[in-house]
Amino acid sequence: MTPVRSALIVGGGIGGMAAAIVLRRLGIAVDLIDLDPAWRVYGAGITITSPTLRAFEQLGILDDVLRDGFSGRGIRICTIDGQEVGEVPDPPGMPGSGGVMRPMLHRILSEKTSASGTNVRLGLTIDRLDQHDAFVDVIFSNGDTGRYDFVLGADGLFSRTRSLILPDAPVPEYTGQSVWRLFADRPAEIDRRHFFLGGRVKVGLSPVSRDSLYMFLLEACPRRTTIPDDELYLVLRELMADYGGPLRTLRNSLSPTSQIVMRPLEAFLLPPPWHVGRVLLIGDAAHPTTPQLASGAGMAVEDAVVLGEELSRANDLAGALAAFAARRTARCQLVVENSLEIGRLERTGAPPAEQTRVVAETLGVLAQPI
Ligand SMILES: Cc1cc2nc3c(=O)[nH]c(=O)nc-3n(C[C@H](O)[C@H](O)[C@H](O)COP(=O)(O)OP(=O)(O)OC[C@H]3O[C@@H](n4cnc5c(N)ncnc54)[C@H](O)[C@@H]3O)c2cc1C
Repeated sequence: MTPVRSALIVGGGIGGMAAAIVLRRLGIAVDLIDLDPAWRVYGAGITITSPTLRAFEQLGILDDVLRDGFSGRGIRICTIDGQEVGEVPDPPGMPGSGGVMRPMLHRILSEKTSASGTNVRLGLTIDRLDQHDAFVDVIFSNGDTGRYDFVLGADGLFSRTRSLILPDAPVPEYTGQSVWRLFADRPAEIDRRHFFLGGRVKVGLSPVSRDSLYMFLLEACPRRTTIPDDELYLVLRELMADYGGPLRTLRNSLSPTSQIVMRPLEAFLLPPPWHVGRVLLIGDAAHPTTPQLASGAGMAVEDAVVLGEELSRANDLAGALAAFAARRTARCQLVVENSLEIGRLERTGAPPAEQTRVVAETLGVLAQPI
């Protein structure tokens, strides 16, 4: 028995869809709303670490992700010329690590969400939340109203739910880095994640299917910059000028039709607790992270899995939320803080060994049972 019979999930991203699947398994009536009328996701790739694969397994989507994505072992560490100088192994006993295209993951999760019996409503947000002892009254942006036992804010970095329940929360701030991503064909030798360290930018490759990969490049820029789309490949070509090996081949292939996304990184630390009354924040709404540990999506899915476990054994919602906070807060804060720390090491040109040490240590901690 769960203390919750009905729930509203605000946000149909990775965390919101994972939560919908988990809550439906408990027999909870779930409405899920998303602001985007087309329920789209942008076309970049996403890296999946070992703990994220484990969370996908708990959610029941591991086979689908492995079918449509890519799984290898560990991270190969290289010089800027592409010479291998070390590796960060996956923690022992974990199901490898890899990558998948975001639209592919979105399709897998959205099909599973719809099949779970979740009532999905698109092009909608919340205008107002009124909390009462036993329920929450909601006014939607189209004027409709609803009453729920529980509301979950899974609406990402700029969460509207967060601004309603925690109006004084800090706002996202630019971290001093931009991330570039390039989608390309996968050469056979790129059979796992690669980091190319020691240059003026940090570059990595992540396979996302049998045939494709994405490259990420982290650039320190004191001020937030925007670059017109038709100039992206030229600036990227310049940023990659010092790099050899597989990155030279990628650089030589850059053209006006290359699939490139550039985005300034934003983050902030939201002090816990991440719930107020009957409303809980999960995923990026509670603990948005920069991508250095490639673990934000994994944390969002783990949030959903743990929430399901705690709701299935608690006598009341307050008890479930307290137990959830006890299991999630330190772990998610570690990801946010260490991602920011790696970003700082990258910006200040710290030795590669120092950067990989923080990655390896954090992945070791995240491999612990959730
Ligand atoms: C550049 C970059 C690269 C990254 N790479 C990785 C990676 O390789 N691996 C990894 O694990 N993580 C990565 N992350 C982190 C990961 O993308 C996020 O942690 C993850 O997407 C969080 O999921 P979420 O469901 O909480 O939020 P989101 O994925 O942001 O989903 C939020 C959803 O809410 C909807 N929404 C927004 N506002 C409203 C509203 N007001 N009302 C209703 N709906 C709303 C949106 O349309 C969206 O569908 C990366 C992040 C960045 C910025």
